Amino acid sequence: MSSDATNYPTASPERAEELQTALDEVRARVRAAAEMRSENSVEPRLVAVSKYKPAADIMACYQHGQRDFGENYAAELAEKAAVLPKDIRWHFIGGLQSNKCKPLAAIPNIYAVQTVDSAKKATALNKSLPADREAPLNIYIQVNTSAEDQKSGILPLKKSEPASTDLVDLAKLVIQDCPRLRLVGLMTIGSFEASTSSDEENPDFKSLVETKEALTEILRSDSSLSGEWGVNGSLELSMGMSADFEVAIRAGSGSVRVGTGIFGSRPST
Ligand SMILES: *Cc1c(COP(=O)(O)O)cnc(C)c1O
Repeated sequence: MSSDATNYPTASPERAEELQTALDEVRARVRAAAEMRSENSVEPRLVAVSKYKPAADIMACYQHGQRDFGENYAAELAEKAAVLPKDIRWHFIGGLQSNKCKPLAAIPNIYAVQTVDSAKKATALNKSLPADREAPLNIYIQVNTSAEDQKSGILPLKKSEPASTDLVDLAKLVIQDCPRLRLVGLMTIGSFEASTSSDEENPDFKSLVETKEALTEILRSDSSLSGEWGVNGSLELSMGMSADFEVAIRAGSGSVRVGTGIFGSRPST
């Protein structure tokens, strides 16, 4: 670590140990779930969701090798990013408002915005990225698989449906018209009921998988599309939280977002 390491916020030794033990447990469960998949795919990315938790907690996880962290509020993310190591990969996973695109894009190590759900927000992010930023900003389009009014996101695709939908249009816009963004995948939260049921099959995860397959087919067959998308040519799925990340991984998730499973419970909102 750099010479200013002592300036980073630090948790008590007891808290650091508690967090590192929880992180090890979650990592082991992620690995075990990934091994049960039929395809020989890469291990899913674990995004540690640190909303409401102090920067010192994040630092304890960082010292245990964790680099991907997720936050729900732009201002909280900016504050934490300013005092923590610059090689953290920050994922914005909260409800995205258009007026938050600019402050989010200004965070030097913002790695991904997982909750893009409109052309306006994609365009605002693309436009707001600082000129000296080298890597494109990774974008996941949020899909409202459970079609709940209180959840953001675009409605999912079905294989049988015609290709012109909001989701297809937004994906194409990000690929074609937002050169500083990279469409890497789709994200969903899913319904609380589905995530807490004991069924192996979660209909919301299944819907996101189907949406990905339908969208991939459409994008691949569009020869007019210039611009790269996906990770190694395929779209990644961000699905699975503390209660359901193993089910999500077995269903094909490439990125899970785990908060309470690592950091413990949050103050209720
Ligand atoms: C808070 C949050 C999480 C983490 O939830 P846990 O149940 O604490 O793991 C994941 N994804 C999103 C979008 C969230 O807002």
